[in-house]
Amino acid sequence: MQRLYTDYIHQRFFMSSLKAFRSSFLDFIADPFYVSELESVRYIPDGLLVLEDGKIKEIGTYDSLQHKYKEISITAYPGMLIMPGFIDTHVHFPQLEMIASYGEQLLTWLNKYTFPTEGKFKDKTYAQKVAAIFLDELLKNGTTTALVFATVHPESVDAFFEEANRRHLRTIAGKVMMDRNAPDFLTDTAETSYQETKALIQKWHKKDRLLYAVTPRFAITSTNEQLQIAGRLLQEFPDVYLHTHISENVDEVAFVKQLFPESQGYLDVYDRAGLVGDRSVFAHGVHLTDAEFHRLSQANAAIAFCPTSNLFLGSGLFRIETAKSKDYPVKVGLGTDVGGGTSVSLLQTANEAYKIAQLRQQKLSPFQTLFLATLGGAKALNLEAKIGNFNPGKEADFVVLDPRATPLMAFRNSDATPTSLEELAERIFTLVIMGDDRAIHATYIMGGLVMGNG
Ligand SMILES: [Zn+2]
Repeated sequence: MQRLYTDYIHQRFFMSSLKAFRSSFLDFIADPFYVSELESVRYIPDGLLVLEDGKIKEIGTYDSLQHKYKEISITAYPGMLIMPGFIDTHVHFPQLEMIASYGEQLLTWLNKYTFPTEGKFKDKTYAQKVAAIFLDELLKNGTTTALVFATVHPESVDAFFEEANRRHLRTIAGKVMMDRNAPDFLTDTAETSYQETKALIQKWHKKDRLLYAVTPRFAITSTNEQLQIAGRLLQEFPDVYLHTHISENVDEVAFVKQLFPESQGYLDVYDRAGLVGDRSVFAHGVHLTDAEFHRLSQANAAIAFCPTSNLFLGSGLFRIETAKSKDYPVKVGLGTDVGGGTSVSLLQTANEAYKIAQLRQQKLSPFQTLFLATLGGAKALNLEAKIGNFNPGKEADFVVLDPRATPLMAFRNSDATPTSLEELAERIFTLVIMGDDRAIHATYIMGGLVMGNG
């Protein structure tokens, strides 16, 4: 009797921590920019994804796995496509309320719209309200991880991390450091930025799933002294990130040259401060030189490609083929860059990435765009051991996509499940081009439903 009771308890505990999902599954096991689709795409038309304690236990065809998991109830999503959660490698949570602000390019846009908006985030209650709206909007759009700018105020970082932690998100964020060329109400000093950043790292970095990024806004708004301080923080805390902007706009690049005449170029300004390493993420990089791409490759640093923002602010067309060259490959993820960007949807962002490539006579395949939004983003953030695909042991953040979400998408896509990679490529291309939050049927964090339909 005793033994049976123990078995029962064991079985109950064991079983209650297991979950399974049946649907079509798509993820990436290698980079489709460098190897063929056959080697990089994992597609299971009728699959079973098994989770244990919020992590991936195994994935395979339904036929091959179902006999092992007869005892667990299975959540089925017929007609849907399940992918790893989307990863946004560059976004500003305080700018959500000024998305779609008219008529300016980067430097005037910052002064006219961004800085006045960011001033409001000294008020923690206000910051908390916007952080909650922002994170729910991300989840509605299938984004489960993001690298996020707060504002110069430590309160904005506290508010953001509290809301992210409440939702159990794997998220990276940081306090903006800026000590010049911005209004007084938004500037810190080299010394206060050091003290405040250090305190925030100690409070938040590696708390549950949260991670910290040292975040100088860009070279224009930091003195050399402050950039050096940022480098010192990276030395003192070697596993935090560096997150900033680079070479977004031609006037910006010219101004940086004027401010740092001794530097060899924009990237060199950061390099001299010790900010270019394998945990550094640089947003934009539209006007980088070949030598700068080469240096980023050598340092194993990453670029956040932000197509909707680059088009909206008229910044220019990112050279994806240079970043993804075989000779000096650079890690690349997609960034929405809201509010310079025009949508928090990574599907819409992938859509515009495709069009930027078209304007440059390049072709981005549907698999390549979705790689950038998932495993590519995870690699850019050095998180591929934890998220980005369905390999066993990874955290189970995933999104259930509906390829027939709107009447037009249903008209465009039959209800038959694609059986070959060619059919799948066509299906997911329509998702990328036509899809947005309406195509997100459900979003799961650590195996738990947080948005949409169970
Ligand atoms: Zn930005």
